Amino acid sequence: MKKHNYSAGPCILPQEVFREASQAILDFNDSGLSILEISHRSKDFVDVMEEARNLSLELLGLEGKGYKALFLQGGASMQFLMIAYNLLKDKAAYLNTGAWSTKAIKEAKFFGDVTEVASSADKDFKYIPKGYFIPSDVDYFHCTSNNTIYGTQMKEFPRTPKPVICDMSSDIFSRELDFSQFDLIYAGAQKNMGPAGTTLVVIKEDILGYVERSIPSMMDYRIHINKASMYNTPAVYAVYVSLLTMRWLKNNGGIKAIEEKNEKKANLLYSEIDINPLFEGYANKEDRSVMNATFTLVNDDLKETFDELWKEAGINGLNGHRSVGGYRASMYNALPLESVQVLVDVMSELERKA
Ligand code: PMP
Repeated sequence: MKKHNYSAGPCILPQEVFREASQAILDFNDSGLSILEISHRSKDFVDVMEEARNLSLELLGLEGKGYKALFLQGGASMQFLMIAYNLLKDKAAYLNTGAWSTKAIKEAKFFGDVTEVASSADKDFKYIPKGYFIPSDVDYFHCTSNNTIYGTQMKEFPRTPKPVICDMSSDIFSRELDFSQFDLIYAGAQKNMGPAGTTLVVIKEDILGYVERSIPSMMDYRIHINKASMYNTPAVYAVYVSLLTMRWLKNNGGIKAIEEKNEKKANLLYSEIDINPLFEGYANKEDRSVMNATFTLVNDDLKETFDELWKEAGINGLNGHRSVGGYRASMYNALPLESVQVLVDVMSELERKA
């Protein structure tokens, strides 16, 4: 039986993507070859890369607006340093909303000064700071749109004349935004886009070329752009499965349609968290993430019973991040509403039993 998979990432992907991806391992495009044994320079794969790059821009509404899409390796964590390598001349502004922002800040400090414009560390990252000031002498502003660990999500982004860079690893393709307000968006694939192993980087090309330091080839966005994201061997299979997932999203109405579904799922779960006296939400209500809902049991004595109940119901991956504890329900694009209903039913059953 298929589990109700709440894993925070790598995570659930659409069932039809799993089927198509399996078929391509056996016989890719009726070629008599597996996708795992063909050259990345073969036409079949060059077409995959081109479609994946174009489709990511199309889904984000960024086609023809001066952006380039890349599928790189090294995870979102590599972007923490690559961004600074390519863009930080003297000083950059960072909003600190959690462990991932903190790591991005740490890497940026290898290349210049970092101004932390605001931080929610004072309240265990339970909220998104607002009303902060971005100095005029910074090279760019960096933020994390969705904080996977704490279950908070930025609903608004500051308007600033400086380039805006956003780590969208855990909410890419999940909601409509004016993506042209960002100059660089990056996301590890392993949540809403595909399997682990590749990272989408969408860059407005005109922000590049201003730093004076020499940039090693693999770290240089311009080289990856010039080589159409094929400077070295890309993560062939991860890019292919990401393409299948993006096609699935497009065929199902794109970001607009998935956003409605994501909101339904999140409303269903948060309503239960709020009405069920046994549970308490972790994040500030106004900053709650539609992707990752974090919550705790009010009385820890019920932990064993609750854990048994959800495991019996076929639920996987509900434990909170080790740094936060409690529970975290990751409701990425491919998680069906029915899975959320199963969790909500288990939570009400616990209330009846307690
Ligand atoms: N940023 C965010 C918001 C994340 O959730 C994660 C973890 N998936 C990362 C960055 C780090 O990603 P990676 O493991 O791909 O380096």
